[in-house]
Amino acid sequence: MRKPVIAGNWKLHKTIPEALELIEALKKDLADKTDIDIVVAPVFTALAPTAQSLKGSPIALAAQNCYFENSGAFTGEVSPALLKDAGCSHVIVGHSERRQLFGETDELINHKIKAVLAEGLTPIFCIGETLEERESDAMMDVLKRQVTVGLNGLNEAQMLNVVVAYEPVWAIGTGKVASTDQAQEAHAFIRGLLAGLFSTSIAEQVRILYGGSVKPDNVDGLMAQTDIDGTLVGGASLKAADFIRIARFE
Ligand code: PEP
Repeated sequence: MRKPVIAGNWKLHKTIPEALELIEALKKDLADKTDIDIVVAPVFTALAPTAQSLKGSPIALAAQNCYFENSGAFTGEVSPALLKDAGCSHVIVGHSERRQLFGETDELINHKIKAVLAEGLTPIFCIGETLEERESDAMMDVLKRQVTVGLNGLNEAQMLNVVVAYEPVWAIGTGKVASTDQAQEAHAFIRGLLAGLFSTSIAEQVRILYGGSVKPDNVDGLMAQTDIDGTLVGGASLKAADFIRIARFE
């Protein structure tokens, strides 16, 4: 019922020629994969050339971040309108690296989600607890705060256009993937939060992705979980063969 989403976050990697080379490989091997949504998120400078290369392909393009104003005196920022202009259909919002390294708050992320939706783009809204928060039994409180504040003020129709990504911070780039039980438990909890904030029907329709050291050898177990609707992939999305295998999960 929920169409899976496999998204690749390329982070701060790949020049324009390198990005185009990876896209060529993905286009060739994933052209038939229309039963899932495939999304790639290159660096800002590679977005427009990548969009050109993706013309006619089912692979969608995401930015890794944006600002919430569409224009004005905001030196160094990029708006949802400009990302749309460059060919994006999705924007990753609230990635843990943005929260941790650039001080993004739940309130700022909420503004960004609204701005992305207002432009008709799909936010990939990232949430997740740190190791310290998990070990001190604060995981559920943290997820509840991130979801409640991050999605504050959205109506049901808007919520249907949001993709949520649960990314435990301790599993990102560390090689430590959450166990399938840990991931399923967090996803079910998040879906319950969405049911409380919106409705059971909305919660049943929203795609919730898992992110954190997803690799070809662990994707099948994760995707077999009831509440896991896809993956947000960092490191393994940089290698064509790995990302293709992840998109062809069994
Ligand atoms: C990410 O960047 O969102 C991520 C999950 O990274 P990795 O797959 O490398 O852990």
